[in-house]
Formats: sequence, C-alpha cells, structure tokens
Amino acid sequence: MAGRESVKVVVRCRPLNKKEIAESRKPIVVIDTAIGSVEITKAGTDDTKRFTFDSVYDDKSTQRDVYDDTGFPLVESVLQGYNGTMFAYGQTGCGKTHTMQGKDSPPELRGIIPTSFEHVFDHLKLLKDKEALVRVSYLELYNEEIRDLLGADHLAKLELKENPEKGVFVKGLRSVVVDGVEAIDALMAQGNAVRTTGSTAMNAESSRSHSIFTIVIEMSGKREDGTEHVTAGKLNLVDLAGSERQSKTKATGARLKEGIKINLSLTALGNVISGLVESSQKHIPYRDSKLTRLLQDSLGGNTKTVMMAAIGPADYNYDETISTLRYANRAKNI
Ligand code: ADP
Ligand code: MG
Repeated sequence: MAGRESVKVVVRCRPLNKKEIAESRKPIVVIDTAIGSVEITKAGTDDTKRFTFDSVYDDKSTQRDVYDDTGFPLVESVLQGYNGTMFAYGQTGCGKTHTMQGKDSPPELRGIIPTSFEHVFDHLKLLKDKEALVRVSYLELYNEEIRDLLGADHLAKLELKENPEKGVFVKGLRSVVVDGVEAIDALMAQGNAVRTTGSTAMNAESSRSHSIFTIVIEMSGKREDGTEHVTAGKLNLVDLAGSERQSKTKATGARLKEGIKINLSLTALGNVISGLVESSQKHIPYRDSKLTRLLQDSLGGNTKTVMMAAIGPADYNYDETISTLRYANRAKNI
C-alpha cells in the first residue's frame, strides 16, 4: 500500500433510549470489547451475524474511551504534518453527533471535535522554537450543494474548484485563524447554530446534510543547521448525513431526491475507502461525489482515516443496523 495511509474502523453502540425502554424493545446487539466483535441476532430467531472491527464500544463507553483510540492518534499525526479524517456514519439517532460533538457540560460529555481542539492547543502551548498557525473552516454539504457555516451568507451555494497549486478547494469558503480553544469552540457553536436555522430555511432536516469541520495546522521552525522547516497538517471531522434508506422514511418528491443524493455520496465514500484498503485497486473513484472530491487530499497517500459507525441496540432497527455494519465492514483493511 502506498505511503503511510491507514484506515481504522470502529463501531459504537448507544444505550437503549427512554422511548425504546418504555416500548419494551429488545436489545439484539452484543458487543465484545476484548476481541472487537459485534454480534447481531434477528429477533425471534437464532440467526446471529458476527463482525469484527479495530475497536468496538458498548453502551457504557465514554467519550474519552472513544477519543483515546480514534481522535488522539489522528490529531497526533496531523500535528506531525499529515492529513487525517474522521467520519461518523450511521442511521439518524444512533449517536453520530453525540460522538463527534457531544455536550459542553459536564465536560466529560465533550465529543471528538471539542476534545481535539484541546489536544491541538495543549500541544502547541508546549512548542518552544516553532511557530504555529491554526485555521478552521466549517461547511455543510446538502443535496450536493456546499454552504459555508461560518460565512456571511450561509444560504449562498459555493463552488468546488480545482487548480494545480491548491488542488481541490471550495471557492470563497471562509477560513478563520484561531488562537485557542475558546475561539474555536465559539466558531463551532456559531456554525452549529447556522446549520440548524439554515436547514429550517431550506425546509430540510440537518440529519440530511453532511458537515465537515476542518482544522489546518501550519508549523514552522528552524532545524539544527539553521534551515527553515515548514509542515502543514489538515484534520477533517465529518458528521455524515443519516444513512437510513428512503423506504423507511417514506420520502417522496424533494425529500426523495435529497435521499438519493445522500445515498450517492455515502456510496461514493464507501467505494473510495474500500478502494484504498484494497491494495490491489489502482483507480480510486474520488470524482464520483462532492464529498469524496472535497476530501480527496485527506484520503489516501500519507493520511489517516477513522470511520466510526454508530448503531442502536434495538430489535426494530435490525435492517438499518446490519446495513451500517456491512458498510463499516467494507471499509476495513483486509
Ligand atoms: P445522530 O447524530 O446519529 O442522529 P445523536 O448523536 O443526535 O444521533 O443521538 C441521538 C440521541 O441519543 C441524543 O439524545 C444523544 O444524546 C443520545 N445518544 C447517542 N449516543 C449515545 C451514547 N453513546 N450514550 C448516551 N446517549 C447517547
Ligand atoms: Mg446528528
């Protein structure tokens, strides 16, 4: 396999929620954290399917447990100048946003994104003879249209461009220099608020859009021989749209069209990742969706990728859960 590229696939199962408990839903998922397995049994049968992943997290897992094996190594590698991406995939309501964003308080509920901010700035504070510049951007991809969650006009559609110097980029996307955790927290909160109001204005649900929070870290310093040394690493934190199929939501018209586009970019992403992990595959189909084009320089080559698949434990989600586990399974290194 080319370069240092690596893909890690993990699965997190949320607890039964209050509604499911009230409805006496049966848990059908068994997680074995020691061996990294997930077993799922079709209710009322002994049809059990078993999958294994790099790590699995059960309903007792903490945000810190997940960060330690996923966000932590990713951020470390970005601080060394490599690109990295973490995706949260899964059916709506299974814990993608809980894992990526979490809650501000109590502090142990902070998710991967805010914890990575702390990690980055804790590291930079310790640097003695290097200068660092941290920039962030936050965008939303809805219906294959790109919108800037930090921009002056968040309903404006931005274009994806490509040139030899910059590679693939979003024209006009705001990129903000941040000097610490507070500044970056505030930008994330601002973008999240825009995401909610924007989706209302477009008569859409935020669960139908992909969001990408990107942190670029540039560092410069002098080597022992006095020459200048510059590194740049990019971290993409992606909360994907819900992976549920349209039959379940009984979508029609605009909602159905939207669903087809979501499925298209999730399928394209699955194809890119499985292409990367199959060392024999030469052609990686980045061009098949905006999501994969946008992330092209952070998938493959000298990059690290984490795919976090979020699932629920209850019997009535059997089909969606199996489909999420199969998607995640395809992304594994063989
Ligand atoms: P998604 O983003 O996949 O649609 P959310 O992250 O919004 O799902 O989760 C749906 C609900 O379940 C939220 O109220 C969230 O707080 C809760 N939840 C999700 N995962 C967990 C977990 N691992 N532990 C406790 N609560 C969770
Ligand atoms: Mg969500």
